Amino acid sequence: MMHIGIDLDNTVLDATSAYLHCYNKVSGLELTHKDVNDFYLYRLYGWDKAKRDEVYDSFGHDIHWGSLPFPMAVEVLQELFKQHQITIVTARPQQYQNVTMAWLEKFQIDYHHILLVEDKLQACTSYGVDVLIDDAPHYAEELAAAQRPVILFEQPYNLSIANDYVYRAANWLEVKKQIDLLGSKFI
Ligand SMILES: [Mg+2]
Repeated sequence: MMHIGIDLDNTVLDATSAYLHCYNKVSGLELTHKDVNDFYLYRLYGWDKAKRDEVYDSFGHDIHWGSLPFPMAVEVLQELFKQHQITIVTARPQQYQNVTMAWLEKFQIDYHHILLVEDKLQACTSYGVDVLIDDAPHYAEELAAAQRPVILFEQPYNLSIANDYVYRAANWLEVKKQIDLLGSKFI
């Protein structure tokens, strides 16, 4: 059995679509998935962090509630939950804990613990997470530098990340394969 940490946005669910929809409405621009080459989507709109925070404060709840899981994410997570310890590790702010948990319930995603933390390396270390599944380039680099394995969920902005501790998955069936491979090393 492994302890698996699982990110939500752009790992379990398609946050990009929800953010594009919202940011397009606010800005009047019409960006699409083809334009997304930056982990920090708001920068594509020429916004600074303060503008991003203002928009997120107003629409964060709707963005999180309206996002949809990636294909096979729910099915694979249900399988993993039977065999492993599952901790949701998301950098969403505490104010979104309720909508996040309600969303997980809506899509019948089971987990043992949930952490809303920005410092994922520290969280994974102190909670004994064996492997983190995430899409963020900076988390992948931080954990890999600390020799902690990461399954990097492929997104346009993380293609250049390469490290012995970083395993790639382009979809949830590939996540399952990588977990099974890692699991055989843990036994
Ligand atoms: Mg993410």
